[in-house]
Amino acid sequence: FDQRDGFIWYNGALVPWRDAKLHVLSHGLHYGSCVFEGERAYNGKIFKSREHSERFRRSAEILDFEIPFSVEELDAAKDATLKANKLLNSYVRPVAWRGSEMMAVAAQHSTINVAIAVWDWPSMFDIATKMKGIKLDIAEYRRPDPQTAPSMAKAAGLYMICTISKHRAERRGYADALMLDWQGRVAECTGANVFFVKDGALHTPIADCFLDGITRRTVIDLAKARGIEVIERRIMPDELASLEECFICGTGAEVTPVAEIGPYKFVPGAISRALIEDYDKAVNA
Ligand code: PMP
Repeated sequence: FDQRDGFIWYNGALVPWRDAKLHVLSHGLHYGSCVFEGERAYNGKIFKSREHSERFRRSAEILDFEIPFSVEELDAAKDATLKANKLLNSYVRPVAWRGSEMMAVAAQHSTINVAIAVWDWPSMFDIATKMKGIKLDIAEYRRPDPQTAPSMAKAAGLYMICTISKHRAERRGYADALMLDWQGRVAECTGANVFFVKDGALHTPIADCFLDGITRRTVIDLAKARGIEVIERRIMPDELASLEECFICGTGAEVTPVAEIGPYKFVPGAISRALIEDYDKAVNA
């Protein structure tokens, strides 16, 4: 991924893609002092750019560092990076990490680096394919207790368990893995939140130990605007047999129906389809 043309915004300036490097003794690499965002631009406009910039700064604060750029500066930097790369429909990846000045657990005075990369990632809006639904494995690792890890931050370190779980799911023939939380309740996927449909209402786990996705909040608003009841509650895995539709949602996944979770089967239906369409309209508005 590092040998490409184009520009990456790096600590305030656009630099050639190949030159956007960091030192091997970066604190962020050794000790996980790193946070990031995942966003999408549609027709040149980043969906919920401000919300992502706010979460980016909040994630850093949870990891005890401050991003040295304001929300407004970050929003402008993302737009400038899109323009410099002449991209309209793309993924947007801000990342911030502690630098290489101090090589120890404590690194209070290290510099904070910020970079923004964008790359082509058109949204695949093909409703017929989407409605076939994907298959999810059930992950071995669980989302940690919020008293054990900074669960509400989009922190690079928390993605270690996501990568292991997603690799295992792919090896076993699944598209992704459903992760339970530390108490064994249904939590989320490795890079997306999860929703279910039962008796015309949406059911989704309470986001108390995993990322309360910006897409998740958008889907809740879109469902309510349609008059669909949204119930945030504890969902145990043995309940999956009684739920009718299932979909995952996130910046990358958008709204993607699920056909299977391990032994449980779902039939993507009218509510999933309506929310796919509403989400597509919202991001392209
Ligand atoms: N959970 C995890 C673990 C994620 O990585 C993501 C993607 N950022 C989400 C949920 C969904 O978040 P969002 O809708 O803000 O992209």
